[in-house]
Amino acid sequence: MTMTNTDVEAGADPGLVFSAEEEAYRARVRAFLAEKLPEGWTSMFASDEAFAQSLEVTKALADEGMLIRHWDPEVGGAGDSIWMQTVAQEEFFAAGEPRGGQYMNVNWIGPAILHYGTEEQKQRLLPPIMRGEVTWAQLFSEPEAGSDLANVQTTAFQQPDGTFLINGSKIWTSYGHLSQTGFLLARSTPGSRRSEGLTVFIIDMEQPGIERREIVTSLGSNRIAEEFFTDVVVQPDAVLGEVGNGWSVAMTALGFERSGSARYARSTRVLGYLERLPEAGDPVVQHELPHLWALGRAAELMNYRVVALKDEGVTPTWEASAARVFNALYEQRVGDLAERMLGSRARVKPVSAEDQGQAEIASLVTSQASSVTVTAGTWEIQLGIIAQRLLGMERAR
Ligand SMILES: Cc1cc2nc3c(=O)[nH]c(=O)nc-3n(C[C@H](O)[C@H](O)[C@H](O)COP(=O)(O)OP(=O)(O)OC[C@H]3O[C@@H](n4cnc5c(N)ncnc54)[C@H](O)[C@@H]3O)c2cc1C
Repeated sequence: MTMTNTDVEAGADPGLVFSAEEEAYRARVRAFLAEKLPEGWTSMFASDEAFAQSLEVTKALADEGMLIRHWDPEVGGAGDSIWMQTVAQEEFFAAGEPRGGQYMNVNWIGPAILHYGTEEQKQRLLPPIMRGEVTWAQLFSEPEAGSDLANVQTTAFQQPDGTFLINGSKIWTSYGHLSQTGFLLARSTPGSRRSEGLTVFIIDMEQPGIERREIVTSLGSNRIAEEFFTDVVVQPDAVLGEVGNGWSVAMTALGFERSGSARYARSTRVLGYLERLPEAGDPVVQHELPHLWALGRAAELMNYRVVALKDEGVTPTWEASAARVFNALYEQRVGDLAERMLGSRARVKPVSAEDQGQAEIASLVTSQASSVTVTAGTWEIQLGIIAQRLLGMERAR
C-alpha cells in the first residue's frame, strides 16, 4: 500500500493499491487459516473447545513465522510495514480472530515490553509471547472505572521491603480467568487523583490472593471475567516503566496497536453469506444490500485513514473514533438484516459443521454485534470525541 491520508481524503480507492507483495501475503494467511482452523470454527467463544483450538492455531502461526512478523528483525520479526499488518489483520478478523487473547500480546503488549521493559523483563516475558503460548489479561476496567478509566481505585502500596501489595478488583476482563499473565493498571500513590500516581504492573495471574470468576453472558463461552485482589504481593520487577507513570505507559502501549480494528472484514464475510441465501431475493433486502456494502466500504476506508495517519507518524484522534463508529454501525446493521431475513433462525447455531455460513451468521448476531458498541470504549464516548475533536463542540458539564 502506497496510499497517504491525503489520498484517502481525495477519494483514492486504496483497495486497488495494495501491493503484489501485500496481496500475496494476504493469500498466504488466508490459506494457512483455512488449513489450520478446525471444521466449523467461528470464533474462540463458540464453544468450550474453541479456546483450546485457538491456542493450537496461534502456536502454529508462531511456528510458521506469522505471529510476530511485524516486530523488528532484531527481536525475531520481519519488520512488516503497517499496511502488511493491516492485510493480515483483515484476514484474522474475517476468520473470527483465531489468535484470541494473543491478539493483544503480539499487537501491543509485546511491543510495550520491548519499549519499556528492562532486559530481564524482555528475556522473561517475550519468548512465551513469541511462541504463541501465553494468554494475557488487560486489567484496566473496574466497577467504577470503565469509560472513566482515570478513576482506577485498585491500590498498589509499596512496602518497606520494596514489594507492592495489591488490593481491589477488576471487571469485564477478556479471558481474565484463562490468562497466565496480567497487564494491570493500579494506583500506587496513596491519595493521588485521576491519571496521576498510577503504575502498570505485570503480574502472575495464578498467584495467591487473586480470585477469578467467569462472568456468564450471552456473548459465548470463556469470554469475560472479574478478578478480586486481596493482599497480592508483587515484586518491584513487576513494574513496567516508571512507578507513577502508569497512565502514559498504558496509553502509549495501546498506541502500539497500529493496524486498527478490522472488524468490518468479518461483517463483510457474513454479509456475503446473507446475499447468497434465497431470502436475499426479497425486494426489501435487494434494496438494502447495496447500502450495506457501501457502509462496509466506508468502515474499511475509515480504518485505512487511521492506518495512513499512523504510517505518517500522526496520532489519530477523532479519526480512530469515527472508524470505530462506522465499524460498529456496519456490524450491527448486518446483524439486524440477518434477523429480519431469517427471524429467530439467525440465532441458531447449526448442528452440522458443514453449514459454515449459518454458524458465522449466528455468531455475529448473538455475540459480536451485541458487544461492539461497548468494548474498547463505548459508542457514546466515541461520539463525544468526534463532537469535540472534529466538530469543535464543547464538552457537556
Ligand atoms: C466484550 C467486552 C470485553 C472487554 N474486555 C476488556 C478487557 O479485556 N480489559 C478491560 O480492562 N476492559 C474490558 N472491557 C470493558 C470495557 O472497556 C468497558 O465496558 C467500557 O469501557 C465501558 O465501561 P463500563 O462498562 O464501566 O460502562 P460505563 O463507563 O459505566 O458506561 C455506562 C454507559 O454510560 C455511558 N457513558 C459513560 N460516560 C459517558 C460520557 N462521558 N458521555 C456519554 N455517555 C457516557 C456509556 O457510553 C455507557 O452507555 C470489555 C467490555 C466488553 C463488553
